[in-house]
Amino acid sequence: MGEPVTLVLDDSANLTVTGPDGGSLPASLSLLPCPACGAPMLPVRWNPWSGEIEWSCTSCDAVIHLPAAP
Ligand SMILES: [Zn+2]
Repeated sequence: MGEPVTLVLDDSANLTVTGPDGGSLPASLSLLPCPACGAPMLPVRWNPWSGEIEWSCTSCDAVIHLPAAP
């Protein structure tokens, strides 16, 4: 339990969240600016148990973890 799921970006506008059962989960996520360089960050992983989202910068190696919005 507790294994993160992988987020798949079809393109810059559509985000598909694939749950552990293979089904799609509703996702309403807006892209974040990188705190280091200001480039857009993409959500790369989501932990359905903790609600934490891992964001990766598209320009540098920055990775941040944020709790999901309530
Ligand atoms: Zn960056």
